[in-house]
Amino acid sequence: MENKLVVNGLKFVPYLKEDEIMKQVRRVASELRRDLEGKQPLFLCVLNGAFIFAADLFREIGINDAQIAFVRYASYEGTSSTGKVRQMMGLPENIEGRDIVIIEDIVDTGLTADRMIADLKAKNPASVRFATLLHKPASTKTGFVPDYVAFSIPPKFIIGYGLDLDGKVRNLRDIYVNSED
Ligand code: 5GP
Repeated sequence: MENKLVVNGLKFVPYLKEDEIMKQVRRVASELRRDLEGKQPLFLCVLNGAFIFAADLFREIGINDAQIAFVRYASYEGTSSTGKVRQMMGLPENIEGRDIVIIEDIVDTGLTADRMIADLKAKNPASVRFATLLHKPASTKTGFVPDYVAFSIPPKFIIGYGLDLDGKVRNLRDIYVNSED
């Protein structure tokens, strides 16, 4: 496992190892398979942060009819939420009647999740499910509860496995936590 890290002057320590992450990814995949077997689900990977989680989760799903598309929503700058939520881009034209699974990296305030689900429901899908790698329940202000969670964590700043700090360190295989939080 990699050691302590300093990124943009902030100190980080190892938090979740690659093998623990993969174990939980496989558990979430099996829950999704149980709930979606026999359907043709459309997974929506929320760029940029969820791209590594989505790649691992999607390969573990075991439903050959499953499809994936990539959407983008940005609400974060630096280490604290700006509170702004921008528009979703990249959604396939017609999702009417589809079983949608949003794949997100992390739910913090819940603002992005609420907005995304509302935008999708306006397009009349059959169902909308929400899978997240990380959830910070203590920071979630909107009452939003994700359907599938790999890890519930305290309200600390996390990097690695797709999650960035100002665009950096997404490539780390393990997840790190800001030790000064
Ligand atoms: P929310 O709308 O739930 O407040 O924010 C969700 C987005 O904030 C996530 O998709 C992610 O981009 C960003 N975010 C929230 N917490 C963290 C964190 O601990 N680390 C990183 N790298 N991004 C975070």
